[in-house]
Amino acid sequence: MCIFCQIVKGEIPSNKVLEDDDFLCFHDINPAAPVHLLVIPKEHIEKFQDVSGEMMAKMTPFIQKVAQLMELDENGYRLITNNGRDGGQEVGHLHFHILGGTRLAWHRFDDAHPKESL
Ligand code: AMP
Repeated sequence: MCIFCQIVKGEIPSNKVLEDDDFLCFHDINPAAPVHLLVIPKEHIEKFQDVSGEMMAKMTPFIQKVAQLMELDENGYRLITNNGRDGGQEVGHLHFHILGGTRLAWHRFDDAHPKESL
């Protein structure tokens, strides 16, 4: 069983922020910002590319509620999902990172270059 499924089952402890029947939000164990939360579906879905539109439609108000609860809604936050190898996904259970609590930098990659429009 994957590590986030174990967190859902309570077999591994987590610092929970919000939970409902379908989703769980907890603090990231290795924060990259003053506020760094993870939102996961309780159902095991490997990655964003596999998730249904219906599930995402339900997840949206859950994420918005988390942002309100953590008082991130006014100043803003960053919502990220790392999808697959090139996306840098390390845990194979869909999760959204919510990062906030400071003005976040935006990293540009050395091999980025403008694309010709079609
Ligand atoms: P990703 O690289 O997008 O797959 O991110 C996985 C995230 O899960 C990382 O930011 C880790 O710090 C976080 N993480 C891994 N194990 C745990 C855990 N037991 N509790 C909370 N966060 C975790």
